[in-house]
Amino acid sequence: MGVLIVGSIALDSVETPFGKVDNALGGAATYASTAASLFTDVQLVGVVGEDFPQEHLEFLRGRGVDLKGVQVAKGKTFRWSGYYDFDLNTAHTRDTQLNVFERFDPQLPEEYREAKYVFLANINPELQLRVLDQVRQPQLVLCDTMNLWIDRSRDKVLEVLSRVDVALMNDSEARQLFETPSLIRAGRRLLQAGPKVGIIKKGEHGALLFADGDFFSAPSYPLEEVLDPTGAGDSFAGGLIGFVAYTNDPSIDNLRKAIVYGSIVASFNVEDFSLNALRRITPEDIARRYEEFVEMTQFA
Ligand code: AMP
Repeated sequence: MGVLIVGSIALDSVETPFGKVDNALGGAATYASTAASLFTDVQLVGVVGEDFPQEHLEFLRGRGVDLKGVQVAKGKTFRWSGYYDFDLNTAHTRDTQLNVFERFDPQLPEEYREAKYVFLANINPELQLRVLDQVRQPQLVLCDTMNLWIDRSRDKVLEVLSRVDVALMNDSEARQLFETPSLIRAGRRLLQAGPKVGIIKKGEHGALLFADGDFFSAPSYPLEEVLDPTGAGDSFAGGLIGFVAYTNDPSIDNLRKAIVYGSIVASFNVEDFSLNALRRITPEDIARRYEEFVEMTQFA
């Protein structure tokens, strides 16, 4: 089974203590699609401006990402600029320019409407809802969001949560949305908001899964060197849903495994700027880290 992904496609300018890039390929949907393409076929929904380099579209196409759902609109591509200090878990936004996303009206090609696995990656929740309205009978819908949308459109973010199966957010977003310092309480409130499963990402400290009568805590892959954490959350999500779609198994047991695959893809992603590391890795690299994960988390 393939995956349908909607979200930002961006040109990012990012600075970390270890280097910087200007107008590099980025965007939540770009990272997620590239990650998911390591496991399965991807249908991408989004918009770019006339300034978006053709080579980036060729790259995605070369990964088996279907671009029929990507519009090229008059105007400039979405741009995000941010920086990180030595605490690489916290992104500081310098500037967000929605540009062509301001007027974007997602229209799903007919065959996309039959998608069984859907990832609503980070973008205005109203656009996430418009995509959801067009999908006929999905088996599993996963969503992500971020602080900007919680600040600007809290009610719409909550509406999205009420309509998905699995909701994903990072620790600071969960604390902000549910107004509590406790991630365990935030996890409970997340489930009360609608989804059957809630996943809270904790950056380098792993991820927590909450479900009715179930709880799972996964570590992150231990890395000594991180160059650029941008896209960690999106590549985590793309790896996760890519694995669920590939195995065509949305059960909680399989979601636990999918969290580990998501963590592995994210661990590669942060080892370089932009999508450079994701461009290089192979299924063998992923399998190797999976075995290490199994070793690392075993005790009797
Ligand atoms: P993350 O996985 O959280 O590090 O996501 C990083 C990506 O999110 C970057 O490539 C940005 O282009 C994208 N991004 C930043 N702000 C927004 C926003 N408000 N809406 C959608 N995407 C965003």
